[in-house]
Amino acid sequence: MINRWSDADAEEFAADYDGKCGRALALRAYSARLLGADRRLVLHGGGNTSVKDKHRNILGEAIEAVFVKASGADIAEIGPEGHVGLDLNYLREFAAIEAMSDEAMINEFRTHMFSSNAPTPSVETLLHVFLPFKYIDHTHADAILTLANQADSEKLIKEALGPDVLTVEYQTPGFKLAKAVLAAFNKRRHCKAIVLLHHGIVTWGDTARDSYGLMIELVTAAEQFIKKHTAIQPKRHVSTSPDEARRRYIKIAPILRGLLAGASGSEDSPFNRVIIKPLIDSDTLDYTDCGIGRETALTPPVTSDYLIRTKAYPLWIDALNYDDMDVLRAQLSSAIGDYKMRYEEYLTTHAQKMGGEISRFDSIPRVLYIEGIGVVCSGRDIESATIAADITSQSIEIKSAIAAMGRDYEGISEEDIFAMEYRTYQHAKLGVSDEPPLARETAIITGAAGAIGSAIARELLLNGCHVAVTDLPGQRLDSLYEELHIQFGLRVMAVPMDVTDPVSVSGACGKVVERWGGLDIVIVNAGIAMVASLSEMSIEAFRKLERVNIDGTLIVIAEAARHFAFQRTGGDIILISTKNVFSPSANFGAYSVTKAAAHQVARIASLELAGIGVRVNMVAPDGVFSDGARRSGLWEEIGPDRMRARGLDEKGLEDYYKGRNLLKSRVTASHVARAVLFFAARQTPTTGATIPVDGGLPDAVPR
Ligand code: ZN
Repeated sequence: MINRWSDADAEEFAADYDGKCGRALALRAYSARLLGADRRLVLHGGGNTSVKDKHRNILGEAIEAVFVKASGADIAEIGPEGHVGLDLNYLREFAAIEAMSDEAMINEFRTHMFSSNAPTPSVETLLHVFLPFKYIDHTHADAILTLANQADSEKLIKEALGPDVLTVEYQTPGFKLAKAVLAAFNKRRHCKAIVLLHHGIVTWGDTARDSYGLMIELVTAAEQFIKKHTAIQPKRHVSTSPDEARRRYIKIAPILRGLLAGASGSEDSPFNRVIIKPLIDSDTLDYTDCGIGRETALTPPVTSDYLIRTKAYPLWIDALNYDDMDVLRAQLSSAIGDYKMRYEEYLTTHAQKMGGEISRFDSIPRVLYIEGIGVVCSGRDIESATIAADITSQSIEIKSAIAAMGRDYEGISEEDIFAMEYRTYQHAKLGVSDEPPLARETAIITGAAGAIGSAIARELLLNGCHVAVTDLPGQRLDSLYEELHIQFGLRVMAVPMDVTDPVSVSGACGKVVERWGGLDIVIVNAGIAMVASLSEMSIEAFRKLERVNIDGTLIVIAEAARHFAFQRTGGDIILISTKNVFSPSANFGAYSVTKAAAHQVARIASLELAGIGVRVNMVAPDGVFSDGARRSGLWEEIGPDRMRARGLDEKGLEDYYKGRNLLKSRVTASHVARAVLFFAARQTPTTGATIPVDGGLPDAVPR
């Protein structure tokens, strides 16, 4: 483990915050980031850090203060403002109190912070308060967890880290743990650090550099000790290759995702879907295929900190039958059904012991170990699924390391697991209350690089959806992806695709399945236009429009239909139609004819797919010319011609279109996107319907 501290960087960091916060707090944030930079020390929002300093209040008085990392904040990116300032002397008095609920503790924190709108500080705030040191660092380092999850952990830790490192038995993080740490510390006030069994390590120092340095020194000592005591093991048998596992995964993912979807309780949108993410690599496959996994995957987690992400226990699934999809579906269904039952039992037993009602999570597994595939993690969005996957990866590494030491894994008790999984403090980290309407959904948009397609992508992404933008390969698609990726991260992907080629379409859908597990919303938007009178139209040019506008619609809808039938959680198809379907234009026949056929394909799909819960609707805009700098294909085709025909410039032509509708409105790509959102969010029980987005054109009213 390398010590990343640099005096020059620390000074530069502190200088950036000069005048905005105290130097002590700035250096606190600097070294917290160093901890966050190493995934072997902390993962996603784990670990916490503090510094004690003075706070000057509005009366000019200097108050003893402790600044503690905000609950759930990611220390890899933390700044001084990510540490919440609290009244240290007041909180110190809590050492005399016997017991305190999470609710009472949060209330005390929130009423004794220096800023009314700061986030709630870490659940381990009182541990930082009770220990009398300037800087305190706490991590859940892999090497420490490897030593702290064994039968004789205390002895091992003494051997590895020396006699001056104190060990404290597992306690539920929060008030109880802080009290236990204080009691142990008071008996050995000259100890140099504390290992919390089944949890992590706490170091301290007079300076940020000392506290961080000690952390690195001790974790390195633990790593070296493990290395020395690891027997080199012969591989027990050959596991599935990652390529083969990935092929299997793509085959089963939609079934799995369908089975993991819970009931939402809403008739309009009956499924509470999940996003799934696979963990397929040779280390994971060695674990699931070679015996260690079967022995240890279902043992308690390596630390209780991430239980809200992974649930108390994962699900283990034996090798599946890939030759018969019906048998495979039945195998998965019964495994998930058993899991739900066991999880309900676990909840009922422990809720009764706690003597009260709890607000329950769903009973759907978050982590599934599948022999011959690896691990599949689920969450309400790709971020949650990714966090669960990273935590599982850490767990596999630690449990494998203990096995390689020739030792037995020993985790915390089920009571302790439950106490941590169901607590106010942890639930708040999930932010369930602010879930956007399409958080659990995935969409694919054809022709996304154009004006309307890109506006739809943005609208769906803003509403929490995972969006695959597809178009012909090239710079337009690449630049759209780059633009969206900056803002929406893991929730956007770009897939080059040709709607006229069934192989290309099904390949693109496979890529979406591999990334997010399945597909829920299909936006059929790709289309091309041509200006020509019937008498002058070239049949080859007409055929080109047929291929994109009609064949493309049919191929994409057919692929979606097969996928939805396989996934069994309904779905939505939305076709971007046109006002020309209802009110065609002269010299624009090829477009009007082919779009009318596409429109009819969608209407027929609404009849055929209603039985499996799939809705098919249409949005019919009048001319949309651009979305910001992004020109529509329609404009590129007809703009110059129409300008010439009417003797207008660009602005004049837009005004002409505006002037011809009842509302005298300019129709934009965003308007079209909002109509798409209306259908995608399933606001009404509607299928086979068309929303005109045209400012009111009496000739073009759908009929
Ligand atoms: Zn912790």
